[in-house]
Amino acid sequence: MTGSGIVDVAIVGAGAAGLATAIFTCRLDSGVTVALLDGATKPGAKILVSGGSRCNVTNTTVTEADFQGGRRAIIRRILRAFPVPDTIAFFDEIGVPLHEEAGGKLFPDSHRSRDVLDALLREAAARGTPVQTGHRVHAIERTADGFRLTTSQGPLAARAVVLATGGRSLPKSGSDGAGLDMAGALGHTIVPTTPALVPMVLAPGAEAIHERLSGVALEAELTLRVGGAVTIRLRGALLWTHFGISGPVALDMSRHWLRARLDGHPAALTASFCPGESFDALDARWTRLAAERPKASLHNTLAGFLPASMASVLLDRLALAPDTPLAHLSRDARRRLVHALVEWPLEVTGTRGYAYAEVTAGGVALEEINPSTLESRVCPGLFLVGEVLDVDGRIGGFNFQWAWSSAYVAARGLARRRARHMIASRPPAAGPDDAVS
Ligand SMILES: Cc1cc2nc3c(=O)[nH]c(=O)nc-3n(C[C@H](O)[C@H](O)[C@H](O)COP(=O)(O)OP(=O)(O)OC[C@H]3O[C@@H](n4cnc5c(N)ncnc54)[C@H](O)[C@@H]3O)c2cc1C
Repeated sequence: MTGSGIVDVAIVGAGAAGLATAIFTCRLDSGVTVALLDGATKPGAKILVSGGSRCNVTNTTVTEADFQGGRRAIIRRILRAFPVPDTIAFFDEIGVPLHEEAGGKLFPDSHRSRDVLDALLREAAARGTPVQTGHRVHAIERTADGFRLTTSQGPLAARAVVLATGGRSLPKSGSDGAGLDMAGALGHTIVPTTPALVPMVLAPGAEAIHERLSGVALEAELTLRVGGAVTIRLRGALLWTHFGISGPVALDMSRHWLRARLDGHPAALTASFCPGESFDALDARWTRLAAERPKASLHNTLAGFLPASMASVLLDRLALAPDTPLAHLSRDARRRLVHALVEWPLEVTGTRGYAYAEVTAGGVALEEINPSTLESRVCPGLFLVGEVLDVDGRIGGFNFQWAWSSAYVAARGLARRRARHMIASRPPAAGPDDAVS
């Protein structure tokens, strides 16, 4: 719909947040004209790849504590305006019933992210706002009656604009940070961005164990120390890879490590392969095991704690003979082993970057947005939704819930704004004096 007319709302970006904003906007205000633009030729790339192509749409329990970034009170307010039951009902309405899996994660019954995307595209089109693909927006300028968008298909005038351009993660999907630049040009503060939910790279070499363990997964607890003090501990599945670590616990930890480094603080990461056990408790357990089963080999005993392949690599790395009977394990060797089990140093050199990140930490500062409407406080008529904002969730469906909730709040804000403008532009009702002439 680029050309000489003016639309009420131009939505830039047709990912999860943009599609949902288009649908909710048309549902709340049937007379509104909306242009939904996306630079990609095929929209919804991230929905398609999400959740291992199954799309983890949301989680049974979502609170502000599942997110990082801007003020939690603001995040809470937005989540509460469109909570999880509303998400479940919405997807049910558009033909995508959800079911719960481990960790409270909700997936489509069909197990197909394609069905989630198709349902959103169908509903948007049915509401009169099909995605205009191949419409890359290069610039947004303010005008007397709203905004002028410069797109790859020509100019577009709009009374209000919704930035739903995502962050910088998975740039080949079309989310390359251009929306952040446009928000900055319109006066917004951009909290510096880093990848988040991204695999971490460990130092290679003879000392490292990850290369030898690539593909092995286990339950672990990661501890981050910043400037020597513990700042966060996270527990979950850890996956060793040829470059370092991945799996939910490593992905969740990545943003904390990156933010510490961004702030210029020295950050050290360690792993416990016996989550929840202290050094002393584990040392006592090994002492007991040696007394109870003196002839048991070190390797077989350790394989009761870890995957067998990892037990071998760990003993090799600690220069402990795998067939050593427990009775012959010296106090020093036992303590070295226990220390390795509860505080294994992970020499992180970096991450796999935005190309492999599920989300972006940082973005448009939340304080500059009205939390009741998601309208910009610095550029009236501009609304911001989804990942372009300084909010990132942990793994488990939280980032999509942020997209749905923020989309709903923006749609409500847009409807209120249009109602206000319609009242303001209505000619005054005829008074008694007018009637007499
Ligand atoms: C591999 C992977 C798996 C994931 N799995 C899950 C999961 O299971 N559950 C979960 O909750 N989250 C998951 N996420 C995160 C989730 O996909 C994102 O949080 C969510 O897609 C963000 O939605 P968004 O609409 O804000 O941004 P995006 O999905 O990034 O959409 C932004 C859209 O804007 C368009 N665009 C950008 N700039 C312009 C421009 N200048 N002009 C026009 N169009 C533009 C892009 O082409 C894109 O279509 C995953 C992410 C990845 C990468």
